[in-house]
Amino acid sequence: MFSHDIGMDLGTANTLVSVRGRGIVIDEPSVVAIDRVSKRVLAIGSEAKRMVGRTPSTIVAVRPLRDGVISDFATTEKMLEYFIRSVNERFGLGIPKPRVVVGIPSGATEVEKRAVHDAAMAAGARSAFLIEEPMAAAIGAGLPVMDAAGSMIVDIGGGTTEVAVIALGGIVRSQSVRAAGDAMDQAIIDYARQVHNTLIGERTAEQIKIAAGSAFRLDEEWTVDLRGRDLATGLPKTIEISTVELRDALSAVTNEIVRAVRVTIETTPPELVSDLMMRGIAMTGGGALLRGLDRRIATETRFPVFVTEDPLRTVVRGCAEALEEAGTLQKVQAAVASRRPPR
Ligand code: ADP
Ligand code: MG
Repeated sequence: MFSHDIGMDLGTANTLVSVRGRGIVIDEPSVVAIDRVSKRVLAIGSEAKRMVGRTPSTIVAVRPLRDGVISDFATTEKMLEYFIRSVNERFGLGIPKPRVVVGIPSGATEVEKRAVHDAAMAAGARSAFLIEEPMAAAIGAGLPVMDAAGSMIVDIGGGTTEVAVIALGGIVRSQSVRAAGDAMDQAIIDYARQVHNTLIGERTAEQIKIAAGSAFRLDEEWTVDLRGRDLATGLPKTIEISTVELRDALSAVTNEIVRAVRVTIETTPPELVSDLMMRGIAMTGGGALLRGLDRRIATETRFPVFVTEDPLRTVVRGCAEALEEAGTLQKVQAAVASRRPPR
């Protein structure tokens, strides 16, 4: 029977939804704007992100998954329901109800998994399955996850970097560190403040990171203008920053990412390490696009490294692919406790 099943990547920075037969239909920031006084949700997704920094102080923009754990259940549930419902409304998926596969941060607790599962059901799913993100990323990257030989995936998102070794449909070793895209942005903000006495916003920092950030020496180094506010005078100010300075500012974060990869390799059983050496390390997530991070990891691990195709969409592709194959789905879904634990 024809059914519009849904795959969903609930990321710390971006949420993506793919509908079977239609491809990716939602790609929006995981942001919710809330009225501080009435506690009402005012906007979700890109509309909510646009409000950041431009709205009266009574409106706050929340990223409920910011740290990789679902620290704010109620808001996560609202966001998830909103996205599933809007897909249902736009595409008339009502009958039969869709099956939903949701990629969740690895290390989510039982209570958090249950909350995501229940929210998907409440939003109109016929059944809801959860997959840990590294597993979804590996499937989306086309890695042979069911194989006895090991594969390694490094997913550098907004809030967290997840490193995982996968074999026989399971996660054999994994590491999750808070060093990822947000920490890079913060490092640039701190650098501008400490070295240039200039205050810059989160968005400016992210733009500069994307335009000129790197983790390995570049063939050609250049300088960029950075607009901010002079901390001494309070007036607008433009500073010039070189790609060398930026790389230096980002190094604490990129070092920690490299360290997480090395620690994972060091604690992986030797037979699997030789598989990894042959197959190489797959890098994915938006952070994998940072210039030279692939070369940096390759140099420091001596393993081959490659970035997956369209790394911001690898997890949602993996969720959708898992839905296509019942066998894969059965095998890779995260265990969810069958009853709601006492609150
Ligand atoms: P999550 O899965 O946690 O939602 P994503 O995989 O969507 O995260 O990645 C978002 C992060 O990737 C953000 O921090 C963003 O700034 C960063 N990013 C996106 N494109 C680039 C790029 N070209 N270079 C460096 N970082 C990037
Ligand atoms: Mg992600």
